[in-house]
Amino acid sequence: MTALWCEWAWLGGGVATAGVLVTLGADGRIASVAAGAPPGDAERLRGLTIPGLANAHSHAFQRALRGRAQGPGSFWSWREQMYALAETIDPDGYRALARATFGEMALAGVTVVGEFHYLHHGPGGVPYSDPNELGRAVLGAAAEAGIRIVLLDACYLEGGSARFRDASAAAWAERATALDLTAGAAIHSVRAVAPDAMRVVATWATLRVAPLHAHVSEQPAENAFADERYGRTPTSMLADAGALGANFTAIHATHATGADIAMLGAAEAHVCLCPTTERDLADGIGPARALAGAGARLALGSDSHAVIDLLEEARAVELDERLASGERGRHATADLLHAATAGGYASLGLHAGGRISPGALADLTTITLDSVRMAGTPPLEGAVFCAGVADVRDVMVGGRWVVRDGTHVSIDVAAELRTVLAP
Ligand SMILES: [Zn+2]
Repeated sequence: MTALWCEWAWLGGGVATAGVLVTLGADGRIASVAAGAPPGDAERLRGLTIPGLANAHSHAFQRALRGRAQGPGSFWSWREQMYALAETIDPDGYRALARATFGEMALAGVTVVGEFHYLHHGPGGVPYSDPNELGRAVLGAAAEAGIRIVLLDACYLEGGSARFRDASAAAWAERATALDLTAGAAIHSVRAVAPDAMRVVATWATLRVAPLHAHVSEQPAENAFADERYGRTPTSMLADAGALGANFTAIHATHATGADIAMLGAAEAHVCLCPTTERDLADGIGPARALAGAGARLALGSDSHAVIDLLEEARAVELDERLASGERGRHATADLLHAATAGGYASLGLHAGGRISPGALADLTTITLDSVRMAGTPPLEGAVFCAGVADVRDVMVGGRWVVRDGTHVSIDVAAELRTVLAP
């Protein structure tokens, strides 16, 4: 049995605990946790060990836009650049890009990714001979990078690129069902999926007790579209389609109305905020405090991968609200870290992940306290408010090391990113 002795560990409360002995079973789960235990023969992990970080909202291919789309414009002009990028992708290139992107996530302490997958078909919308070729490429990429993946197969029927679109909701369901590793479903947005089709996707997810994600109210224009065409908000449309519930995650909810917030809270739905993307795309600041107060459960994602840093996402939830509200301490530090860990796992249907306790998935991330950024800081506040991804030293997924001393065990991530993104 593997034994790890954590100099500090976060066990879910408001402070870090010193000297925590964690033993791992052969099943890839945590067998025991003992605070204040001597290290004995256990491997010593210096720094703060937290549950692995959950990146609950990703579009892996958008990593290729990083640093290439900073010109003037809006969300809508950025979207045109994203559509153009999507036209250039082939299965081999997609797999290589996703593998390197997931490798970057591992180095950032991410142990599970929710891949919101909507690039399904070949050029012109012609299906590949295996209609799930691109989905399988993404699944293979995550396996090679050593992180867990929950593929959220997105229904996309109107607008966008032909490469995103299935012929109908029934065609989406047939394809998603054929992808036997599919663990979840997604409704791309109210712009892309009409109410009748939403209901098909929601039913598909409900029957499988699978996570269901949807982009919700990222931009004011999305609310205006829903109001003009359907006389409702995106959230109320999803509620009417039977989508809202404990397996549902609203992505963004930046422009959710007061009634929307109440509905999401009453449903105990998850809301995945993606603050670094929302600021990059000039979306706005989401009502995180109000959502949490209403009963919604927060998760975090790096979405477009303008940066991949879940601790930055966590602190941004608080810091952006400080800018908007003029108040500090709107979210407890432990709540921010919960959103970055257990909140994301739960949003992805992995209820055994995101905590350091017996029976939990043995997914762990250790952050050094010795770097110039972290030296002298209290471990928990330091990790959430000061740590950078370079402070992530060791990452374990299911009891297996993926990152050791800041280096991926099997992938030269920077070299692969340079190769795959070479002009
Ligand atoms: Zn997204």
